[in-house]
Formats: sequence, C-alpha cells, structure tokens
Amino acid sequence: MSELAPELQKASRAAGLQGRVRINKAGCLDQCEHGPVVVVYPEAVWYGNVQAGDAEEIVREHLVGGRPVERLRLAEDCLNTASCPHRPAKEA
Ligand SMILES: [Zn+2]
Repeated sequence: MSELAPELQKASRAAGLQGRVRINKAGCLDQCEHGPVVVVYPEAVWYGNVQAGDAEEIVREHLVGGRPVERLRLAEDCLNTASCPHRPAKEA
C-alpha cells in the first residue's frame, strides 16, 4: 500500500501550503469501513477510500481551488450514523 499521508504532505508543499496545512495520522476516525479517510477542516469535508494517487487532486482542487472533490466525498449517510450501508451489521 502506498502511503497517503506523505503524498498529501508532498502535494501541499508543492502547492505552497506549508505551514497552512497539517497532516495528522489519526487511526480510522470511526470510519474504518470507508478505507483511508481524509477530513479537511474547518469545513469538515470527509473523503473516503482515498488513495495516494488522489492526494494531488485533493490538494489542488480543494485546498488550493476551494472546490471539494465530489467523487471522493463520503455521503452524509456514512457519517456519525449507525445506518451507513457500508457498515457491517452489528451482532445483537
Ligand atoms: Zn458508508
């Protein structure tokens, strides 16, 4: 698995955002079933199943351009809810 965090770091630096962007590794953020997730604050836009190859697009489109990358966004249904369709059913 290629590393997402270093790619984000590299892309942010290339875009001149060093000092304005912090890349933190934070476990799975209760979103384990959505693969590697990225959250952009202060908007709190969530991305799911993010691959290292998506890092440059997130930085260029969202952080620089201010346009969230819609194809990578997690649905509202997936956040802070037990009813997300990707979540395995819990045993009673
Ligand atoms: Zn989901």
